Amino acid sequence: MEYLPKFQLFRPLSVEQAAALYAENDGARFLAGGTDMIVNMRRGIETPAALIDLSQIPELGDIHEENDGMRIGAAVTLEQLAAHAAIARDYPAVAEAAAAIAGPTHRAYGTVGGNLCLDTRCIFYNQSEWWRSSNAYCLKHRGEICHVAPGGQACFAAYSGDLAPALLVHDARIELIGPERRRDIPLGDFFRDDGMDHLAIEKGEILASVMLPKASAGAPSAYAKSRIRGAIDFPVAGLAALLTLRGGGIEKLRIALTAVNPRPLVVDGTDAFNGAEVNDNMLDKLAELASSQAKPMTTTTVSPWYRRRVIGALARRLVARLAEIE
Ligand SMILES: Cc1cc2nc3c(=O)[nH]c(=O)nc-3n(C[C@H](O)[C@H](O)[C@H](O)COP(=O)(O)OP(=O)(O)OC[C@H]3O[C@@H](n4cnc5c(N)ncnc54)[C@H](O)[C@@H]3O)c2cc1C
Ligand code: SF4
Repeated sequence: MEYLPKFQLFRPLSVEQAAALYAENDGARFLAGGTDMIVNMRRGIETPAALIDLSQIPELGDIHEENDGMRIGAAVTLEQLAAHAAIARDYPAVAEAAAAIAGPTHRAYGTVGGNLCLDTRCIFYNQSEWWRSSNAYCLKHRGEICHVAPGGQACFAAYSGDLAPALLVHDARIELIGPERRRDIPLGDFFRDDGMDHLAIEKGEILASVMLPKASAGAPSAYAKSRIRGAIDFPVAGLAALLTLRGGGIEKLRIALTAVNPRPLVVDGTDAFNGAEVNDNMLDKLAELASSQAKPMTTTTVSPWYRRRVIGALARRLVARLAEIE
């Protein structure tokens, strides 16, 4: 890690001021809790001329109920989200995921917006400047080859945020405010399958809030992850599940993955289980389906083979727990 480089820091009090500051300052970047951005600046990965701190903007900082569901401001901290009683009651996977991010001090500063906009991760990228320079950098930043798959032109750095899969199983939407327009999109449309360019965010756009719809409130859901150090680490594989049952059969089953692809991924094909009973045979098939859609590469010290197995095991375990058969 290096010393922080010189930069200007702005603390706007409204989204409009933040947008104007962004437009006036070439090379500006948004800052929230700084728990990813500041680390990346000390590694020479991010070199912003100015940081525009969104954490002082009141309209981004609260959680409230609206007609359609719960709106969570982007500057709400992970600690606040994990402790919010209505979120824990109605969207349990979201509270569980927030509580499982990093360690307590990171959660006290890290925010919902920063977690969703988290950069993708790879052992050849999340390194100091001298380490990366002595290895000729890599495609994602300043280099010409990918050390994970040297023959290709793609980047497989893994999206490793914990919140996204939990929000995805509850059909969350997000609100983005840009210089030209405001838009409201499904969270799933915010991510791309490209480790070098994984967010569908426009220049100068601010992620303002997340909307958790009323329609999915109260549906049993859960989140679990595997990590190297239980007290602090990013997931090496993470999974959220939502399950509702009717008359002994599955009414709705949604599974979403993190840390195994360049984007958080909703597993395709779970509708085929509708009407089925949750039993060993069904859980085996589900584990196979989920692990077949995880495409981890050698982007961490944990092998892709193991991370795929973990995805299968987490799918099995969480759905059994939600069906109360374990
Ligand atoms: C030791 C350690 C362990 C960690 N473990 C985990 C973990 O287990 N799980 C996990 O998910 N993360 C983990 N993290 C990463 C980080 O702490 C969290 O992801 C945190 O939620 C990031 O939020 P932040 O507010 O600090 O983001 P920042 O660092 O402030 O910003 C991150 C990125 O988001 C952009 N951004 C922030 N807010 C907005 C917005 N509203 N609109 C547009 N762009 C925005 C910034 O420009 C930047 O590019 C870990 C970090 C460390 C240092
Ligand atoms: S997957 Fe390849 S290009 Fe992407 S960060 Fe890792 S080494 Fe770099």
